[in-house]
Amino acid sequence: MLELSILLISSVANILLGLLVYIKNPRAITNRLFLMLAITIVAWSGVNFASVHPVFLSQLTLIRLVLFTGGFLNLSVFLTFLAFPAAKMPSKSWRKIKPAILATLIVMPLTLTPLVFKELKYSGNGAQPVPNPGIALFLAQTVILLGASLYILYKKYRTSTGVLRNQLRLILLGVGSTFALIIVNNLLLVVIFNVTFFVPAGPLFTLLFTGALAYAIIKHHLFDIRRVAARGLAYILSITFMSTVYVGAVFGLSTLLLGNDQSRTHSEVIYTSLALVLALSFQAIKRFFDKLSNRVFYKDAYNPENFLDELNRVLVARVELEPLLQEATNVIMQNLKVDYCTFIIRKTAYFPVRTIGSKGKRFNEETIASLREQLSVIREKVIATDYIDAEHIRLKNLLYRNNVAVVARLIPSIEYGLEGTGELVLGPKKNGDPYTDQDIQLLEIISNELVIAVQNSLRFEEIEAFSSTLQDKVDTATRQLKRTNEKLQALDETKDEFISMASHQLRTPLTSVKGYVSMVLEGDAGELNPTQRKLLEQSFASSQRMVYLIADLLNLSRLRTGKFIIEAKPTNLADVIESEVDQLTASAAGRNLTLTYEKPAKFPTLMIDETKIRQVIMNFADNAIYYTPTGGKIDIRLKETSDSVEFTVNDNGIGIPADEQHHLFNKFYRAKNAQKARPDGTGLGLFMAKKVIIAQGGAIIFKSKEGKGSTFGFAFSKQKLRVPDHLQPKATNA
Ligand code: ADP
Repeated sequence: MLELSILLISSVANILLGLLVYIKNPRAITNRLFLMLAITIVAWSGVNFASVHPVFLSQLTLIRLVLFTGGFLNLSVFLTFLAFPAAKMPSKSWRKIKPAILATLIVMPLTLTPLVFKELKYSGNGAQPVPNPGIALFLAQTVILLGASLYILYKKYRTSTGVLRNQLRLILLGVGSTFALIIVNNLLLVVIFNVTFFVPAGPLFTLLFTGALAYAIIKHHLFDIRRVAARGLAYILSITFMSTVYVGAVFGLSTLLLGNDQSRTHSEVIYTSLALVLALSFQAIKRFFDKLSNRVFYKDAYNPENFLDELNRVLVARVELEPLLQEATNVIMQNLKVDYCTFIIRKTAYFPVRTIGSKGKRFNEETIASLREQLSVIREKVIATDYIDAEHIRLKNLLYRNNVAVVARLIPSIEYGLEGTGELVLGPKKNGDPYTDQDIQLLEIISNELVIAVQNSLRFEEIEAFSSTLQDKVDTATRQLKRTNEKLQALDETKDEFISMASHQLRTPLTSVKGYVSMVLEGDAGELNPTQRKLLEQSFASSQRMVYLIADLLNLSRLRTGKFIIEAKPTNLADVIESEVDQLTASAAGRNLTLTYEKPAKFPTLMIDETKIRQVIMNFADNAIYYTPTGGKIDIRLKETSDSVEFTVNDNGIGIPADEQHHLFNKFYRAKNAQKARPDGTGLGLFMAKKVIIAQGGAIIFKSKEGKGSTFGFAFSKQKLRVPDHLQPKATNA
């Protein structure tokens, strides 16, 4: 009974394991051979059992079959570990495979003939096979193939690194101990010492092999079937548990409730209700075992969805590179439970190569450069050091030297070959587990997301750096501009001072020139003949114009220095205009112009700066004379309404082009047609006129049409210019 249980358990375990490995990757030669090996082990175990408890066939035949299947088992072991862990049989291995197959093909048929076991000899210990010299051939095949398998495994173990090394160590241990025990127990003891008592224990030894593989699957991800194995175990446990409980319950309940009355209806009731309980509780029990098996297989597992969610939250919440990657590092470290997590970020226009992430883990420039160079020929995005092919041994060694378990390249998928944004470098897992396929797939997704986030951060940095340099440039330019402006202002002040000084200096001699000319004209120096009078009148008018020009210049500099002050006093505008018009009559007549002024019979006295308003009137009238061709008409008017006074000078002269009118009243501005008509103008008159009128609360009147004529003037509200009572000139009003 015990023997049979051992046989059954080991067979089920072997077949299950073989199938799982095969299903995981049916195309890989290692996985296929492994299934073959598992089946062969089961077949050998079965025949081995039968040879002790013979059924159907004679015991001698069954013992011969043990050797027959044993021969094939030797070949299976050899082939499986020759291939392990490759997906395709390396072509150079065929040199070893051919002789192995040939030897097996010779030995196997031989084991069925009397050349190996002649007959059975019966003694006190039961039946003993009597060997013939042929057994030596079988022994040779066994020792050579199994020895070669162990040697190959050992060689692979020596040259391998990382996970593979751990896997190979366990396999070597399992295979070595299993076959050493089997050879001693089932072959040497039987053939040399004639002891068959322990033969049934043979399958028990295969459990060592199966156990070692199972451990390698759990701990070192052998064949990467941990997930499936976990589910399988949970199922087996649930079903075993349920069937035990069910059978127990059926027996217990039937005995308890029915005693000896085992009628069909009663037992059916019990079976049906139990079946119901079973059906309803199966899921819950399965979940329990699921959890239990998960705890064994995945004690450090993480939930990929939660992991991605957490990471995404960090990636959207941050934009500055350093905090972004620092937080991403925390999330990755917590979920993957790795020794360290470091980002290497490529050089940018404003920053050198940077490593951001776990404290203490830094890579020097040389390492980074050679890592980049060697990565450039690899097509994968995520590279696990353990799984790097032998052809990239330099990269593999570099990564091992630096304790790197995984490198995820931060490159957008379309840009292979181009320089990406950098790399995510991960250390080994803290518990020593290797990275699984799931980890690698997840890292691929993560690296895609990280690329985008890092690119955004780098752009943000670039814009920030750019705007700060831009700000610097603007600041420097502004400072330069300010300095230049200060110089210009200083120059302008010097110029103003000069003009002001020159005007003052000119005014005194000019006043005396004007005074003396006026005296001569009034006959103080004797009679004048008409020619002399005419010439002197012209020189008087010119000196008068010069007086106004100088006044304009003085006012201009006063405006700048803030000394431009309105000094209003009670003034009769009608009289002021009359005296100005009188002065101009001569020059108007000289240019053959009709100058009219209808003086209002009565006009209110207003508070006005007489000197300045006189200049304004003079300016408007003077312009009209100069910008009106000979034969033209100039009409000067002073009007009073109920609440305002209005002064206008109207001419039918050259006018001002419409597109230039908005420049008028600006300092030094002169229209083009005016520059032709009067080359010596200054462009100061209108500017000053506007200042004077506005300063006294009045408004400028202006209207013009090119070629037709212009109207210039001003208007004041009477209320604003009202003379206060204490200043009313009572005598003149009376
Ligand atoms: P100036 O007469 O010395 O040029 P003003 O400041 O007195 O300077 O006048 C500015 C400009 O306004 C003139 O150059 C001229 O183009 C225009 N302007 C002024 N009055 C008249 C007018 N009555 N007819 C035509 N253009 C005028």
